[in-house]
Amino acid sequence: MSKLQTLTIAVALTFGVFIALACQTGLVNSEETLKSSKTEKVEPTPEKVKNTENITIAAGGDMMMGSPFPNASRMPPNDGKDLLKPVAPIFQKADIGFGNLEGPLADGGVSPKCGRGRPNCFAFRMPTRYANYLKEAGFDIMSVANNHAGDFGARGRITTRQTLDRLGIKHAGSDKGRYSTAYLDVKGKKVAFVAFATNSISLNVNNLAEARRAVRQADQKADIVVVSFHGGAEGLKAIRTPKRTEIFFGERRGNLPLFSKAVVDAGADLVLGHGPHVLRGMEVYKDRLIAYSLGNFATYGWFNLRGPKGESLVLEVEIDSEGKFVKGKIHPFVLKARGILTPDKTNSAINTIRRLSLLDFPKTAPKVDADGIITPQ
Ligand SMILES: [Zn+2]
Repeated sequence: MSKLQTLTIAVALTFGVFIALACQTGLVNSEETLKSSKTEKVEPTPEKVKNTENITIAAGGDMMMGSPFPNASRMPPNDGKDLLKPVAPIFQKADIGFGNLEGPLADGGVSPKCGRGRPNCFAFRMPTRYANYLKEAGFDIMSVANNHAGDFGARGRITTRQTLDRLGIKHAGSDKGRYSTAYLDVKGKKVAFVAFATNSISLNVNNLAEARRAVRQADQKADIVVVSFHGGAEGLKAIRTPKRTEIFFGERRGNLPLFSKAVVDAGADLVLGHGPHVLRGMEVYKDRLIAYSLGNFATYGWFNLRGPKGESLVLEVEIDSEGKFVKGKIHPFVLKARGILTPDKTNSAINTIRRLSLLDFPKTAPKVDADGIITPQ
């Protein structure tokens, strides 16, 4: 190798190293620029940008799996072990399984509702062992804000919480303070459930200021906020969702469209309604799904399940990482005999939801196709 060749190689090597170094520095710099521009922006929390996976929620309406009170004549077959079997695969598959527990889990106690000499009084309590069925079927969170959760007083509310806590099932709505909101960790995200009813113990659908406050508070702590409400009139005359305050048995049962929009404005990403014991329509507001009534679901023995009251469903909802409604699916069921959940091949619940959504929310109803697939319009 000549001196000239050696020199050329040396120059080339130095130059190469220089370029490589320059490139590396450039890379580091651009990364730093990216990082600093991210921190300068008003990104709320780093977790919010971390995971963009969608979340699925399976939801059922009113659940009262069997009550030995006022007497044991209407307990379910096989001690209730089979009640949730037909729906279990749907709840197990979803990221979150939700339902409204229409009555306390309690093995005894006194019902303040039913004094002596009132044998036909509507008060229920489910055996605490029945909570295992919820766990096995894939339920993660129960609403305990409704007009039967207090049927066995404060003691019944305590045993309900204790029973669910023991099984690792969250609950929302046991009162308006400490137990109003439950938080779940799902796919690296915090999901809040805030539960409302029409009584004075839980957060109340009629108090919009309180509702906004509770939802905002949950929204600060969580990435996704789901609102559950138990409201509206009940029965065959209550299938339409009126845009005014409903009164039933002298009780204000909420202006539910107004309430639902108020909570979405305050940060709610999904609103799940129940209480009328019949299905009601759905609408999409600000890219968020509002389901006004999920109807009767896994209610055994003590309810009238004729006609529309026996139409049941599991609502499966997929929301994106910001809480926007992506798509949904109605799994249609019918409650046979005294309350046996049975898949419904006639798709009755699908047709009802489509019909009522278009009737009550002609401009904002989601699209519901023949297979029960729900999409934003
Ligand atoms: Zn109810």
